[in-house]
Amino acid sequence: MQQLAISGYDERMGKRSEVEDHVVFITGASSGIGAACALAFARGGARLLLSARRVERLEAMEVELLQAGAAAVHCFHLDVQNRSAVERAIADLSQEWRAIDVLVNNAGLSRGLDKLWEGKPQDWEEMIETNIKGMLWVARAVVSGMVVRGRGHVVNLGSTAQDLAYPGGAVYCGTKAAVKLINDGLRQDLMGTPVRVTSIDPGMVETEFSEVRFHGDAARAAKVYQNITPLTADDVADAVVWAVTRPAHVNIAHVLMTTIDQANSLMFNRRT
Ligand code: NAP
Repeated sequence: MQQLAISGYDERMGKRSEVEDHVVFITGASSGIGAACALAFARGGARLLLSARRVERLEAMEVELLQAGAAAVHCFHLDVQNRSAVERAIADLSQEWRAIDVLVNNAGLSRGLDKLWEGKPQDWEEMIETNIKGMLWVARAVVSGMVVRGRGHVVNLGSTAQDLAYPGGAVYCGTKAAVKLINDGLRQDLMGTPVRVTSIDPGMVETEFSEVRFHGDAARAAKVYQNITPLTADDVADAVVWAVTRPAHVNIAHVLMTTIDQANSLMFNRRT
């Protein structure tokens, strides 16, 4: 059985690497952490399978990704909330693209920061449909092939919010708690196969996340990152690549990571 070839961290960044020519599928690659992962895997010479709803953004990234070293780039529209669209999208891939080595199950969002009894049902539905069910639809469509081929790595995007809820975030935090347990359950289901499962769990990362949460209110979103040094999307992508490039017998179950200015989802060091 062929496995992802492995080497150390410095080598990983310095040469065409162990992910060279491996098919890396990233959901929600049009922005933030997903886009940063695309660039990081491009630098390793991977073949990038990128999806999002804003497919025009993906297409606009293609040239940069190829210049960065991607062996090939294939972009397609996908709303992960739509189960049949997910199944169709994977089934319709050509054989070479369907042989996915790494799935970065990243598409996700928060909506609103309201007290629970004032929360908008539509916001809740969107978070649950995307963060839990969307993640499941994609995993279901992709992991079966990994098991058959005897190779693969699933990376799910969790959050510090999975361990400790914060005010106004009950539903978002609940979705990430679900991701945590689904990640752990999947890892158990895959025992006896060489397929690995990792949850990357960041704290605050400056991306479009807050703007999406506040339904486009950029001024309110900017305040989230005021007087603090947040993680960058590149910091998270670095952890994703690190987890994927460990030796084949090493499974990184969780990576809990925050900026030095954050202790957990409630405690921040703001320089006021
Ligand atoms: P972002 O910049 O807003 O990116 C979110 C990505 O998800 C976009 O590419 C978006 O693409 C995609 N997406 C959202 N809904 C989708 C859907 N229904 N179908 C397909 N794609 C969808 O936010 P981010 O910070 O990079 O977030 C990425 C992941 O990290 C999420 O799972 C988030 O929960 C997690 N996370 C973020 C933070 C943080 O502080 N930023 C912390 C911990 C965990 P389209 O809109 O084009 O579809």
